[in-house]
Amino acid sequence: MKPLGIYVHIPFCVRKCDYCDFLSMPVGNEGMDDYIYALLCEIKGYAGKFNCVGDRYGLSSIYIGGGTPSLLSADSVSMITDCIRRQFAYAYGKDVEITMEANPGTVSPDSLKSYRECGINRLSIGLQSVNDDELRTLGRIHDAEAFFKAFDAAKKAGFDNINVDIMTALPGQTLDSLENTLKAVTDLSCTHISAYSLILEEGTPFYKRYAGTDGLPGEEKEREMYHFTVSYLKEHGYKRYEISNFSLPGYESRHNSAYWKRNDYLGFGLGASSLVDNTRYKNTVNMCDYLKHPLSRDLFEENISLSERDRMAEHMFLGLRLSEGVSEEEFGKEFEKEIDEIYGRELSRLVTEGLLLRDGGRIRLTEKGVDYGNYVFSRFL
Ligand code: SF4
Repeated sequence: MKPLGIYVHIPFCVRKCDYCDFLSMPVGNEGMDDYIYALLCEIKGYAGKFNCVGDRYGLSSIYIGGGTPSLLSADSVSMITDCIRRQFAYAYGKDVEITMEANPGTVSPDSLKSYRECGINRLSIGLQSVNDDELRTLGRIHDAEAFFKAFDAAKKAGFDNINVDIMTALPGQTLDSLENTLKAVTDLSCTHISAYSLILEEGTPFYKRYAGTDGLPGEEKEREMYHFTVSYLKEHGYKRYEISNFSLPGYESRHNSAYWKRNDYLGFGLGASSLVDNTRYKNTVNMCDYLKHPLSRDLFEENISLSERDRMAEHMFLGLRLSEGVSEEEFGKEFEKEIDEIYGRELSRLVTEGLLLRDGGRIRLTEKGVDYGNYVFSRFL
């Protein structure tokens, strides 16, 4: 049986954060019910929409992301998870990782208890920083205290696998303020930490405010914060298993790891992406279209059948994001070609440049390679 991941997108937030260009919008409750209805229709009709049947898969993970899924009532979350359980009955094992993203400004002890009761077994809390001035600058709806209360309530509700998202390279952030955030999350012994650098996205209030100014840390400072984060987390027992993801032993995110390993996944909801039998699909990003026709194949934003060359490139640049790197043997098995036959010249050049390491049948980024990751990945395109 092939492993399968399922992603469910909830594109609603209380309000937009100033740096955010994710597919999300402020919500009124009435919009949410119509959306859940469309989502359930899409899940029920998935097999026709994605040319895909569940009984050749073993379901390994479900991820409810957004947006702000914790705006949903526990009843809505239950409807979604029950619907998946019914539609993927053949594929459903005992040990499915079921993650839900939560914004500390939208949860209560009762709501967290209800989410846990409806089968969510991993929580991903969007913190970003424990410094309230940084949170205000980002336009987040919560302060640090709300995060600490949410974390405590989540533990009491029975969540023992909790990711915390933090951000680096924020306006005004210093190594000291970053250390405050790292200390706070490691003191809580959360099982997983995602640490991404802020990226200035066009069309956001942040872009208007900071593009062309020196209000954001430069590249050198951004790298310094990244290296500081890596070594701080290492000292505190968190292993970097992907460029921006760290976990206590055994708590790597199964769902995200499946993306990097190119396992099949189905994405439900507005703008959600899927990978099925080497075809990439992306749902429409137009809410009216999605609500009217959640099962339409004509409304795919993308429907791309990947060539062998595309698959090889993805295998390399996604696999190299992982600390374990790419296995030469697995590449050979999957493509029935030696890796050197395809990428020999690029690999030796990148090794000579000190960006890749070949050792024991595996190829990995060096520390320098991590800093120049985008350059390395581009060499396989
Ligand atoms: S909560 Fe997340 S998805 Fe929503 S606006 Fe803020 S950053 Fe974007």
